[in-house]
Amino acid sequence: MKLHNYYGGSWQEPSNANYAAVLNPANGEELAQVQLSTKEDVEAAVKAAKEAQKKWALVPAPKRADYLYEIGRVMKERKEHLAQVLTKEMGKVIEEARGEVQEGIDMAYYMAGEGRRLFGETTPSELADKFAMSVRAPIGVVGLITPWNFPVAIATWKSFPAIVAGNTFIWKPATETPMLAYEMAKIFDEVGFPAGVANIVFGSGSEVGTAMIEHPDVKVISFTGSTDTGSKVAELGGRHLKKVSLEMGGKNAVIVMDDADLNLAVEGILWSAFGTAGQRCTACSRVIVHKDVKAELETRLLEAMKQLTIGDGLDESVKVGPVINKAALEKIHSYVEIGQGEAKLLTGGQIMTDSPYDKGCYYEPTLFTDVPANARIAQEEIFGPVVSLIEVGSLEEAIEVNNSVKYGLSSSIFTRDVNRVFKAQRDLDTGIVYVNAGTTGAEIHLPFGGTKGTGNGHRDSGVAALDVYTEWKSVYVDF
Ligand code: GLU
Repeated sequence: MKLHNYYGGSWQEPSNANYAAVLNPANGEELAQVQLSTKEDVEAAVKAAKEAQKKWALVPAPKRADYLYEIGRVMKERKEHLAQVLTKEMGKVIEEARGEVQEGIDMAYYMAGEGRRLFGETTPSELADKFAMSVRAPIGVVGLITPWNFPVAIATWKSFPAIVAGNTFIWKPATETPMLAYEMAKIFDEVGFPAGVANIVFGSGSEVGTAMIEHPDVKVISFTGSTDTGSKVAELGGRHLKKVSLEMGGKNAVIVMDDADLNLAVEGILWSAFGTAGQRCTACSRVIVHKDVKAELETRLLEAMKQLTIGDGLDESVKVGPVINKAALEKIHSYVEIGQGEAKLLTGGQIMTDSPYDKGCYYEPTLFTDVPANARIAQEEIFGPVVSLIEVGSLEEAIEVNNSVKYGLSSSIFTRDVNRVFKAQRDLDTGIVYVNAGTTGAEIHLPFGGTKGTGNGHRDSGVAALDVYTEWKSVYVDF
């Protein structure tokens, strides 16, 4: 199966003979070949998107929203199929894949609702017989660059608000996970968007991503990925005066206080540390634990980790799937080797090489303890199933340790003390705070994003996403 671009309302003939293989990380099987597009493909897609945008902006927002209702309906109908494709190309377990597809469906309906709101403001004028208002205006063609860890949900967080606000988009999905994007392109085609509204160009960041950022007719770039790449996107975008929305890394912590419900804490840590094999930007990779409950938490965590079944995510009983590819395995393992010089390894720490794991990309769920807060494994994003336990003596110290990393996406605290809850939600320097739950599981109608090295002040999903895809226009009417 060969995956080709979809833009200008039709499937495009390949412009060259370059492809990348899409491999199932559970067993190494080749699933498809994806086209590696060129600057010329981007040029053609942007041209189509620009032409379409002028007319699209004139379609009333509630009518634009009707397409999203239809997308939501079709996604719902195909939910199981989409989830299966997702698990095969990305590795996350089927239960999580279903959850991710559901997130896309929810986003479709939620943003469709915004088509009937898209609120502006009316404001009293200083002058008599003058009416003053501000409206949200669409910006034009927007460029969306999405990662492999949430191949469908993140694309919907970006493309649906863009569409409802009257923009057209060019979407470059990650080369590791183009199959879901292909499925979405089929849906965009079927729901009958006017040609050029929804466009997908497959290819590498260096070729396709760069061409999108440099193109004068692409007015906004919304990027989710690593902090290193995001900084480059911001730099290049800055040079071309683009509005750039960045959603990047995390080094998220669960704080467990001495009054915590430990069963609940273990559940929250397991799910947020090992779900998607730790490859979420919101994944818990640090546990900051009060010294009085440290030993007990360690024992319970180790016990619970023994129950985690590892394997092909299509198997309903599996809890932890593979990581995305061999390069990820190597990167994770190099961090574990660093960690062995910095802290005490309690369990895990190996690439799984026994049959049948040797055919895929499996890493043992790994737990370190006695990790100094400034250790590299406690500071840098590993993006795999590796957790560092850090001991503290007070809430103040826990908050300080939480905030000592360069990222600021998600944090969580387990405590029964309402005063601690309110102090923590105020002082934790992250875009998302959970109380008595792990660090993952964001809901699509709330703003998603983070502080410091995680973002540049923009938010995905929620009404806040509309700020990325609209410009405020102030209108004065004298009468
Ligand atoms: N939906 C995910 C969560 O809240 C976050 C997306 C991501 O990690 O990129 O867990």
